Amino acid sequence: MKKGQSKNRVVRDTPAIAQSPASNNHQGNGYSTETHLIYGKSYTEKWDYSHHLIPPITASATFRLESAQRGAQGFVEFAHTVEGKEVSKQAPIYIYDRLGEPNKDLLEDNLAMAESGGTCLTFSSGMGAISAALGSLVTPGDQVISHKIMYGCTYELFTLWYPRYHIDVKFIDLVNPANLRKAITPATRVVYFETPVNPTLDLIDVAAVSEIVREENKMRKKQNRINIVVDNTFATPFCQRPIEYGADFVVHSLTKNIGGFGTDVGGAVIGPLSSRDRLLLYRKDFGGVLATKNAWDALVYGLPTLATRLRKQQESACEIARYLAGHPKIEKVNYPGLEGGNQHALAKKQMRDFDGNFAPGSMIYFVMKGDSPEESRCRAEKLINHLAKDAYTITLAVSLGNIRTLVEHPGSMTHAAIPAVEQVKKGIDPGGMRLSIGLEKVGDILRDLTEALGKI
Ligand SMILES: *Cc1c(COP(=O)(O)O)cnc(C)c1O
Repeated sequence: MKKGQSKNRVVRDTPAIAQSPASNNHQGNGYSTETHLIYGKSYTEKWDYSHHLIPPITASATFRLESAQRGAQGFVEFAHTVEGKEVSKQAPIYIYDRLGEPNKDLLEDNLAMAESGGTCLTFSSGMGAISAALGSLVTPGDQVISHKIMYGCTYELFTLWYPRYHIDVKFIDLVNPANLRKAITPATRVVYFETPVNPTLDLIDVAAVSEIVREENKMRKKQNRINIVVDNTFATPFCQRPIEYGADFVVHSLTKNIGGFGTDVGGAVIGPLSSRDRLLLYRKDFGGVLATKNAWDALVYGLPTLATRLRKQQESACEIARYLAGHPKIEKVNYPGLEGGNQHALAKKQMRDFDGNFAPGSMIYFVMKGDSPEESRCRAEKLINHLAKDAYTITLAVSLGNIRTLVEHPGSMTHAAIPAVEQVKKGIDPGGMRLSIGLEKVGDILRDLTEALGKI
């Protein structure tokens, strides 16, 4: 924009945008969530790009301010969300990338919609998002209650760093939510868990946990209330929306199935609108902002294809889980879509796609048979090495939610931060493996699995 161009641009509702049929907030307009993931708000008050099909990628660390007044106003408005006024309807004054920029804003609007949340902020990685969500909720002396198994780096955040900040983390088994009642103390501020749990695919009943927390919160002052934070990375909003079951916050690694193609690292926090300003300040001052290019990729490629990818991955995962469950060399398979397991009823209640169909996801956990845990572990290692060497459609790699099928050994890789003895006590099998199903033809994945299993 040249100097001297219309001063009205501060206001943003230029007639061209205001009159565009696509200029409305289409949320709640009867179109499906799946379609919203493609268009978002289509044209947004946040940015004038009405003549583009795709929002242009921004590449500006700082933004031109037309006047000292506009600059000052930008700083006044930052992190001063007006309660009751929808954030997305405000035309922000962009100042500097770390405070906010259009690509991230568009992605955040769409993610908040997908998760049924009041607001969303993106971060440089999933861990950036998790540490921001929790960091904005706790202070020294507070307590976090967490499920006993989770992603290894989150575990290390809790066990290596939080003791240094005098934040106590108590690990309990939330698969039985009743355990929570006994664990809550006056210092408890956060209940944290993943469901499905990484890597075991155990499920935690979000509604049951929030019922207990709601009861407890009735007796608490507002500033002491307990918040529920759910890592929804495994399921994605396509398969499950924890906020609809009473969670306060959802965190994501955008690196996984939301990004979908394994090209970008990113994270997101979705929560109530009342948490927005604190999270904005946290992100501004701790600095873990998502790169605009990564935001743009998730906005333009990741979210619009999420439903289509998940539907196909999930269909293949169902078939592969059934095949593995019937294989004589395999001890057990955890997949929320498998009939008969004692968590199947919970899976059917909690894991539903945007249209209400059962959506058990694309992740499988399975354990090799063995006369001892050590033998089971050896066989898992052998299987993984055969796959790494010979399989065309299965790659040995950490991460998940990729269009390519990935396998890994949590015990020695993603969850190595949890000591081996602790892993066994907590329920991570030494011979357990994690499979993330991609978009390959399912028969080809089954062929590679059959060949590798045949060699053990
Ligand atoms: C990968 C992962 C994370 C961390 O995400 P990054 O983007 O790698 O920082 C957190 N939680 C779960 C469940 C994950 O799988």
